[in-house]
Amino acid sequence: MLLNTNRGFSKINNIMTIDNKHVVALNYILHTDGENNEKVLVEKSDAENPLTFLYGVGMMIPKFEENIKGLTTGDKASFTILPAEGYGERNPDAVAQLHLDMFKESGIPPVGAILPLSDNNGNNFQAVVLEVTPESVIADLNHPMAGKTLHFDVEIVNHREATEEELAHGHAHGIDGHSGH
Ligand SMILES: [Zn+2]
Repeated sequence: MLLNTNRGFSKINNIMTIDNKHVVALNYILHTDGENNEKVLVEKSDAENPLTFLYGVGMMIPKFEENIKGLTTGDKASFTILPAEGYGERNPDAVAQLHLDMFKESGIPPVGAILPLSDNNGNNFQAVVLEVTPESVIADLNHPMAGKTLHFDVEIVNHREATEEELAHGHAHGIDGHSGH
């Protein structure tokens, strides 16, 4: 194996902290701000099944990774990410009229339904149904979390160096690196 000088360096003080090419497992609680500035729970990880990801490959919001860099197993942190550094500001023009033919097989979705769509480049995204007319379904193409301030409480469950297989695949293979996919 090639000598990695960074790795040797971090062993000097014997505490490995979260950095690129690590697989991180963490529990998190995500709140956003409600209309009256109250905290609204968006989602939380299942303690039995922490969020596990390869750090530094663009799987996560960059600002999220920036906030957990340097933490280690057992550390807790709370931080806030503004919309511009989260899922972006809401674009009021990002609304599409989808012809009803698109829904022949799936059925017409109700207002508020989340539609899984993909763009011309094959990127998947979600749209929210705003209105259904006799001709079309009108959908908001903004990310459901666009324009929202994100309040995270995280606890690092585990982190380790990624395996060569994980680095080659560009994703984590579970907490222990041996989970199939
Ligand atoms: Zn893989």
